[in-house]
Amino acid sequence: MYEYVLEDISKARETYWENAGVIPFEKAKNSQPFGAEEIEDAGARLDRFAPLIMKLFPETIDQNGIIESPLKEIEKTKEILRQKMGEVPTGKLFIKCDSHLAIAGSVKARGGIYEVLKHTEELALAAGILKPGDDYSKLTDYRDYFAQYSVQVGSTGNLGMSIGIMSAAIGYKAIVHMSSDAKEWKKKLLRSKGVIVKEYASDYSKAVSEGRKISDLDPNSYFVDDEHSVDLFLGYAVAGKRLAGQLEDNNIKVDAEHPLYVYIPCGVGGAPGGITFGLKNIWGDNVHCFFVEPTQAPCMLAGLASGRGDEVCVQDYGLTGVTAADGLAVGRCSRLVARIMAPMLSGISTVADDKLFEYMRLLHDADDIIIEPSSCAAFEGYINMAAGKRGHDYFQKTASSDNATHIIWATGGSLMPDEIIREYLNMI
Ligand SMILES: *Cc1c(COP(=O)(O)O)cnc(C)c1O
Repeated sequence: MYEYVLEDISKARETYWENAGVIPFEKAKNSQPFGAEEIEDAGARLDRFAPLIMKLFPETIDQNGIIESPLKEIEKTKEILRQKMGEVPTGKLFIKCDSHLAIAGSVKARGGIYEVLKHTEELALAAGILKPGDDYSKLTDYRDYFAQYSVQVGSTGNLGMSIGIMSAAIGYKAIVHMSSDAKEWKKKLLRSKGVIVKEYASDYSKAVSEGRKISDLDPNSYFVDDEHSVDLFLGYAVAGKRLAGQLEDNNIKVDAEHPLYVYIPCGVGGAPGGITFGLKNIWGDNVHCFFVEPTQAPCMLAGLASGRGDEVCVQDYGLTGVTAADGLAVGRCSRLVARIMAPMLSGISTVADDKLFEYMRLLHDADDIIIEPSSCAAFEGYINMAAGKRGHDYFQKTASSDNATHIIWATGGSLMPDEIIREYLNMI
């Protein structure tokens, strides 16, 4: 069906894929395993935990214990992109700074922290430590109780940081199984917080399967399963309602005359999939979501364009799966997410590693915002909507006037050490 895309994938060429499987959201939502009610429930759970989060992480007091990131208009970046590329799509350009989410410094602060909290609530309610209506900050008195339990996860880096930091703060024994792509500074930071980091010489799928195996042997261990977790997905989806409030604060309307375009970097799919699901549940067909993946690890593109989901991996197409975008270094997509996205994701772009560093420098120089290379992939989705680019037809077809709003979803970066930032900024 999408032969040119599959060929681009196997040649590691940058490509753009428009999803011909999209159906009206009102219809698509009926076949989903969960919906608006479950997202509401996740949001309410995060509200219940806000007093505990404030107590454990005083840097969140300003936001009343709600972990949320700023939405910023980046006019200077847009102007420089226009000068460099010749064209940019019409409409306003914003960046959603999940790169600067409190506690974990990445988008994983949404799903990862949510899942640890949900597990904690279940344990605490069952043990009678917590009763509905209690002030959850009392859980800090029960560190010894939680120390009997472990939380484990397989990760390329950032998920490990969010799960590890939150689990250790509550008192759990936290074990993170890191793939070979994980950056040294992320492992070091985790160890400094008392998290046990196990290293694997192989890729992400192996780190996950080994971690899952080890965790399953221990009845007191809980495994956060990035490939299959509904809780992670719903934690990410809470972003929808939060973004709606921020757009309102910026006097940005989203409706048929004012469509919204969102570009999100994709690894296994949970974060961009959950966010897309959250946005679709608010704006339906008036929001158009695109993922961006590295040319060496386009696992969601391979899964969706071939129609084979998680039955295929990027190595089947002769790719290495190795990329400077460590957060996106995933060879096989999540089956759960591929299925949910199939009728609602607008498309996927791929990007060569070199460009990530160019985008990183450009955003830093123009608007003084620093995000990590994986995050920078999102720019490519935006650029592909410009006149002369492969996504322009889609953009013209869906944006009837100049009233579009674009959001580049920055997914990580604020915990990067200074020397790493300098190194990246000097890379060609
Ligand atoms: C994890 C991650 C993503 C993608 O999330 P997935 O759930 O793996 O698709 C994107 N950017 C960064 C920086 C990440 O850490």
